[in-house]
Amino acid sequence: MTETITRYEPGEPAAAAGYVDAPPRMGFFTDTTLCIGCKACEVACKEWNQVPATGLDLLGMSYDNTGALTANSWRHVAFVETDAHWLMMSDVCKHCTRAACLDVCPTGSLFRTEFGTVVVQEDICNGCGYCIPACPYGVIDQRRDDGRAWKCTLCYDRIGAGMTPACAQACPTESIQYGPLDELRDRAQSRVQLLHDAGVPEARLYGHDPADGVGGDGAFFLLLDEPEVYGLPPDPVVTTRDLPRMWRRAGAAALVMAAVTVAAFLGGSS
Ligand code: SF4
Ligand code: SF4
Repeated sequence: MTETITRYEPGEPAAAAGYVDAPPRMGFFTDTTLCIGCKACEVACKEWNQVPATGLDLLGMSYDNTGALTANSWRHVAFVETDAHWLMMSDVCKHCTRAACLDVCPTGSLFRTEFGTVVVQEDICNGCGYCIPACPYGVIDQRRDDGRAWKCTLCYDRIGAGMTPACAQACPTESIQYGPLDELRDRAQSRVQLLHDAGVPEARLYGHDPADGVGGDGAFFLLLDEPEVYGLPPDPVVTTRDLPRMWRRAGAAALVMAAVTVAAFLGGSS
């Protein structure tokens, strides 16, 4: 018996995509308070996924010579020097519950996996670039030499074999934690409470809330300052949220046009 989208509940994107008896949704919890900026995650990601090197650019941004998430950098360790802190954060694709990149892809290159993650199949990508402006986080990017879109796959090949994604495996401080998303959310809440009790009231979670503008992220963060300080949008919203209403209005306008045309034709022939 085939069960379909009727099993869907918000926050269960694999079921929404039609997977029957999908495994638990898997994700990343990146606790930035534990990051030491070693960049082992960046290197492990590049090595495992055979992401091309980009050369060494001295950007003048603290110890950050990567600069941003790009087609050739699927993890980006940001170094943020403020008056109060020296913040480090390993950024990544958020594997959104409502992923606009996936909504706009015309070829099916971007797809939802059984683990609830969002993956690009590079052999199907036609390089149209629609997904690039659709992402509210500015994550997905086209590679200059071939025009195709690339981003973190949450190591789909590894997790399918029961392994931990390369970045989380390499992280020496467990700043990057991988596991079932529900467990990660519980662990993150406990960690925030512990930090608050220890006199760190600025600790807060980002991307953990299923009620936010993207339905919550599959990769979420513990931060020590406002999201903007880390270069993250404070209130991300799925950019395709108005598409159903736009299609309904376009359909209604087409019906009106058809009715007017028929009326004009009948009026002219009588
Ligand atoms: S962060 Fe951007 S690229 Fe990643 S799943 Fe969300 S919309 Fe897609
Ligand atoms: S491997 Fe861990 S500690 Fe090192 S930069 Fe990445 S997140 Fe930070």
